[in-house]
Amino acid sequence: MIGNVFKSIIGSKNERELKALAPQAARVNELEPQFQGLNDTQLRAKTEEFKQRIARGESLDDVLPEAYAAVREASVRVLGMRHFDVQIVGGIALHQGKITEMKTGEGKTLAATLPLYLNALPGHGCHLVTVNDYLAKRDAEWMGGIYGFLGMSVGVIVHDMDDQKRKAAYNSDITYGTNNEFGFDYLRDNMKYSSEDCVQRDLHFAIVDEVDSILVDEARTPLIISGPIERGEDIFYASQKSLIIKLKQHQDRIIRSILNNAEARMRQELDDDKTIELLLQVKRGAPKNSRFLDIIAQEPGLKKRIDRTESLLRSQKTLNLLDEELYCIIEEQDHSANWTDKGLKLLSGDQPDAFVIPDMIQGMQEIDNDPRLNFREKKKRKRELEIQYSETSERMHASQQLIKAYWLFSKDVDYVVKDGQVVIVDEFTGRLMPGRRWSDGLHQAIEAKEGVNVAEENQTLATITFQNYFRMYEKLAGMTGTADTEAPEFKKIYDLDVLVIPTHKKMIRLNHPDVIYKTEREKFKAAVEEIKELHRKGQPVLVGTISIEKSEMLSKMLKREGIKHQVLNAKNHEREAEIIAMAGQKGTVTISTNMAGRGTDIVLGDGIPELGGLHIMGTERHESRRIDNQLRGRSGRQGDLGSSRFYLSLEDDLMRIFGSERIASVMDRLGMEEDQPIEHQIISRAIEGAQKRVEGINFNIRKNLLEYDDVMNQQRKVIYGQRQAILKGDHLKETIQDMIDELVETAVLENIDSNIFPEEWNLGPLSDYTYHVFGFVPTFSKAEIKDLTQESLIERLKQQAIATYERREQQIDPPSFLFLQKIAMLKAVDDLWMDHLLGMDQLKEGIGLRGYGQMDPLKEYQKEGYNMFLSMVESIKENTLRTLFRIRIAPQEQPSVEAPKKKMVLSHGGDGGMSPTRRKTPKVGRNDPCPCGSGKKYKHCCGR
Ligand code: ADP
Ligand code: MG
Repeated sequence: MIGNVFKSIIGSKNERELKALAPQAARVNELEPQFQGLNDTQLRAKTEEFKQRIARGESLDDVLPEAYAAVREASVRVLGMRHFDVQIVGGIALHQGKITEMKTGEGKTLAATLPLYLNALPGHGCHLVTVNDYLAKRDAEWMGGIYGFLGMSVGVIVHDMDDQKRKAAYNSDITYGTNNEFGFDYLRDNMKYSSEDCVQRDLHFAIVDEVDSILVDEARTPLIISGPIERGEDIFYASQKSLIIKLKQHQDRIIRSILNNAEARMRQELDDDKTIELLLQVKRGAPKNSRFLDIIAQEPGLKKRIDRTESLLRSQKTLNLLDEELYCIIEEQDHSANWTDKGLKLLSGDQPDAFVIPDMIQGMQEIDNDPRLNFREKKKRKRELEIQYSETSERMHASQQLIKAYWLFSKDVDYVVKDGQVVIVDEFTGRLMPGRRWSDGLHQAIEAKEGVNVAEENQTLATITFQNYFRMYEKLAGMTGTADTEAPEFKKIYDLDVLVIPTHKKMIRLNHPDVIYKTEREKFKAAVEEIKELHRKGQPVLVGTISIEKSEMLSKMLKREGIKHQVLNAKNHEREAEIIAMAGQKGTVTISTNMAGRGTDIVLGDGIPELGGLHIMGTERHESRRIDNQLRGRSGRQGDLGSSRFYLSLEDDLMRIFGSERIASVMDRLGMEEDQPIEHQIISRAIEGAQKRVEGINFNIRKNLLEYDDVMNQQRKVIYGQRQAILKGDHLKETIQDMIDELVETAVLENIDSNIFPEEWNLGPLSDYTYHVFGFVPTFSKAEIKDLTQESLIERLKQQAIATYERREQQIDPPSFLFLQKIAMLKAVDDLWMDHLLGMDQLKEGIGLRGYGQMDPLKEYQKEGYNMFLSMVESIKENTLRTLFRIRIAPQEQPSVEAPKKKMVLSHGGDGGMSPTRRKTPKVGRNDPCPCGSGKKYKHCCGR
């Protein structure tokens, strides 16, 4: 009831906003005859006219009606398509920086031409962001006709393109490309050593197509550029693999015997607490065990009891008593798998210390305090301790990732193996993501598991989330068929409003309620029966499956029945366009993963409307309602006839993991017979409830990622901003002088005590510092020293440093000197920034582990992250000056330095983690005592 009232408020708000756009849209229509009267040359000349009017101060809104009328007329002449009124309205909403929901097949591609043209008029460049290369190319070529006719240039960015071509594409008025390409180009530009090499211009206006897919689904993991580090963990992946296999065998064995035990008790009708506990053990050790799933399916009420027992034992803190008997525990809900003590013992074998990380601080102290050791031996022992530390943590890390690889990641579901490579399959779009890698060593673990070449471990060189990339645009808009369910997130994270645009023609697709079977087997049997029936009638059907594996299974079942069909999944995506083109024809059966959800359009064949149009059959619900709506949306486009229905079973992941007790008890109450589905309002609602819960969890993952990335984002902005200024060569000399001033002041204040007479100052550390950073040792006569104060010392040192600087300036010819300064700064920024990224990763990890007490981990992260940033900035200055003051250059010789050519890996993935690698030795704070034992601060000793 309340829900309805609420909806009607939202509904009327949407209507009000639509109404507000009506006058502008009407004006476009009024102008139509006038624009029809122009000849081609006159129509083309409009572009120049608009540009001049804007240059003279007219606003984009002033020229909007005419500009849209011009685009519409050009489209009619070039493509034979006249923008529908709803497309004009959608186009205005896009120009206003809104997310427009326009259903699949409504022609978003064409609608976007209006705001792109308008916003390109001032000459800044507009971006249209698509989900894949194919669509970027298709849309740029298709719509390119209109732009070309009106004298606007269009470019496209795809994978495997060199910088020169990229730059040309970005310099076009309108640029099509994928979110990944735009994001990676931004990161790569900020690693370049000269501004001519940068490919992007300022980020002005972007329209994101399929915006929910890009800003919601893909935003769960950041973009990462990484390069190889010297020594990887590869050895451990290979060597630990056999141990993990052994662990799995032991676990399988014990699960089998627990199951035997439980079944024996159930046969004796002993379904008491003990039996439930046994089943709970199976759930925790092998949640997908097929015998276990069968038992649950036969008696849905059991699941409720198992879950209850689990939460009860958890609250009593006795769950570990059950877990202790297993080797490994799997928590499907938060996608984690971990060994138990018993498992750890098995992994350690005859080396009890193999998985015990040594306590570094205590260990170091013990070595220091050991009177039997001399200085040398101490140093050696410390080194050994460090090696032991890093090897153990690497071994543990590799083993943990291998456990994930074996228990949580499945071939042909999460990834495929293709040409000796492990290739990720995107969970939401069902597409392959070649070249992307899971972070934090997970990818290596899966490579080891599949027996293919294990790639080197990488370190982060640059990273950004999509949220933060897209928030940099001056204006951002988006379009999709399914935005409404995500409206609160768009508002909260991107400050974008959603406007639902009515369809051009009335939508008449019939959405039948879900049917639910007890087991997956029964579900697929029923699905095949229905496909057979539809096939006999000749009505085309598109069957959605949740993974490649399931699509192949269903294909086998249909083959056995002799039903001709096509399979579309990431393994044969080359044929996508061809398969989809046939999907609306008579008698066609198409099985597809989520891939068929986006972009390409299904046209109905002759006589199909008479048969009821395209039927959509879902064979499982996705975690997200949006993805289900995408599948449904394949049918019923632009007023076509069509229908849809989802087939579910209690064994589906969504039902198993997130289904509420409600579902199980309703099922029990209604009593389910073999092969007898149920269709019930309560069930459908409970399923939506489960989906909303998962959407909530996923939203939190994204929010969390963003909150952490926001800390980085501010720092990234500062650093990238500095980099840009250096590249442009703005005020280099002043910058260097400021650096000198600051460092000198800090050094003096840190090292000279103003309460002591100058004669008694210990100038040692200070002159050490000036020598290392500025390349000179301060010299004062005894008499001079007597009269010094802290302040005058600072002045003197500044003068000496500047004098040294100016001497260098004169020694080297001006262009070389300018170049040298640039390089010194860039190199310092890049080196330390990468180090900092790594440090921030570790900080986050460490804070996650620390999470106790009243501390807010995010606040801690912000605070410590800020301190680390400050200390990095100081180091950047020191490194810059050290290079500048100490590098030797042969006169008249242009030093040749270019950006280090590292092999880079681009990745976007991982399970929410942002940490690609760990530091090989424990991090020492810059102000901590140096671990070498010198007694000096780390930053003044080995850390310099
Ligand atoms: P969406 O991206 O909204 O799902 P598309 O842009 O792929 O839809 O367009 C769907 C189909 O509708 C395309 O085949 C396109 O040619 C057609 N179409 C779109 N707008 C018009 C129009 N104004 N007149 C005629 N056909 C159109
Ligand atoms: Mg589209």
